[in-house]
Amino acid sequence: MKAKLRGHHLICLNFFRGEGYSEEFIRNIYSVIGKESIEIVTGPDDVCATCPFLKDDWCNNPDYSDDMIQFQDREALRLLGFKPGMRVDWKMIADKLPGIIEVWKAQFCGGCGYRKVCFG
Ligand code: SF4
Repeated sequence: MKAKLRGHHLICLNFFRGEGYSEEFIRNIYSVIGKESIEIVTGPDDVCATCPFLKDDWCNNPDYSDDMIQFQDREALRLLGFKPGMRVDWKMIADKLPGIIEVWKAQFCGGCGYRKVCFG
């Protein structure tokens, strides 16, 4: 089974610890991370699909803007060396994480409410 994921979720889901915006959202993430193959997409993905903040294909999370989310997606793909449309898997991502995570943290994690969940 294949998951469709946007750029920043390729990084952030590696730090998922069972927390999220709703029970349905959390259940869905467990299903997404259990899939072996990933197709990289732009815009709303299989995680956004059950997010309470997704409205009309637009991220309405009050802590971010849709523009910021899209910028995060582009930066995640740039750091990982991936492009939209590529098929990847979790091991390909895990192999690249050690080399990019400090840059990612410095750029994006400071203001994120899940920082403590991810990094203690
Ligand atoms: S907050 Fe925005 S980017 Fe994150 S899952 Fe929800 S809709 Fe998608």
